[in-house]
Amino acid sequence: MDVVDKLDILSRDAQYDLSCACSTKNPAEHRKRDKDNAWLYPVTVANGGSGIMLKTLMTNSCSNDCLYCPLRNTADSPRTGIGSDELASFFIDLAAKRHLIGLFLSSGVMGTADRTMDKLTATAEILRKKYRYRGYIHIKIIPGCSKAAIDKTLSLASAVSLNIETPGANRLARLTQSKNFDRDIIEPLKYISEQTAKGSRYAKIHKTSQFIVGASDETDREILSYTWGMYRRLNFHRLYFSAYQGGLGDPAIPGERRHRIVGEPRMQHSQLFAFPEVPSNQDILMREHRLYQSDYLFRCYGFTFDDIDFDQSGNLLFDKDPKQLWADRHPEYYPVSLSKGSKEALLRVPGLGPIFVGRIIKGRSTSIIRTLDDVRLPSHLMMKAKSYICA
Ligand code: SF4
Repeated sequence: MDVVDKLDILSRDAQYDLSCACSTKNPAEHRKRDKDNAWLYPVTVANGGSGIMLKTLMTNSCSNDCLYCPLRNTADSPRTGIGSDELASFFIDLAAKRHLIGLFLSSGVMGTADRTMDKLTATAEILRKKYRYRGYIHIKIIPGCSKAAIDKTLSLASAVSLNIETPGANRLARLTQSKNFDRDIIEPLKYISEQTAKGSRYAKIHKTSQFIVGASDETDREILSYTWGMYRRLNFHRLYFSAYQGGLGDPAIPGERRHRIVGEPRMQHSQLFAFPEVPSNQDILMREHRLYQSDYLFRCYGFTFDDIDFDQSGNLLFDKDPKQLWADRHPEYYPVSLSKGSKEALLRVPGLGPIFVGRIIKGRSTSIIRTLDDVRLPSHLMMKAKSYICA
């Protein structure tokens, strides 16, 4: 196989990892790939720059057994790998021809986590030292790797991610016997957080993580409780939610992204977990969408975990977005005055987001708001907002 053939396979399998698209505003963007060069993905990175990124695995073989993952050791799919020199030189050649925003490097586990990290960091080291590449490199941190491997990664990367996968040890234990939630995931996440704390040498490194949604019978409440903790206690920048869509779709189709179960998990791992019924494609994507909306409320609207309402089973409602639900359950909070309301109060108004709230606050410093028409909201937003505001 030449490099292009290998990348066709390796990059297709890298599509399951969303956590490199550090600041992508529209989750649907995560699923797109370049139609001519399928290893290129559109992304918006932490500094606000957007463009295309080469996203690949070093190998799509894996010694681990995560049931939700198409790379797991029991899956029957074509396997390949690429060398560090080979990948670095291909990337540099490509970057000379096309404007690339950077490189996302991940890998299946090659025997041990540290051995895999050696391969990932060797590629980054060649790029940094031999080719003097100063651009964006996102490196995946493999669960269970040593502190020394994390230190080396931080010395080379612009961004790192380590996927939490599930909200809690019991949930993960249903999906894999290879990874210990506390030892292999939570401890490294805490270490990354400490090493990148404010004022530290690596404070500028962007940190992300990802949940697989719907594979371990977890609830949205559990996922968002961990999400909140990762923002508040571990200072992670972005969390991603990847809908488990077992058996649906075709991962060979550009733009498709599927976590697939190859074979019958009940037969392979009956001792672990009776797999939940796979929800319809639309249901799981709507669930993913509601999780992203809640996450956005945490990051950009000043909401806390306690502000999110769940149904009796601990899940977000499908038929109402979480901000609208909060507004409906807190009529005492409204109407919010456009001319006097604080930024925090305005952000609680359905239909108003950070951009329009910023414009209202800027506008009212120079002119008086006498009627709702004075703020010139687009009509669809005004329709949503008008019962919750006054001049
Ligand atoms: S360790 Fe990662 S690549 Fe390997 S099976 Fe688990 S999720 Fe997939």
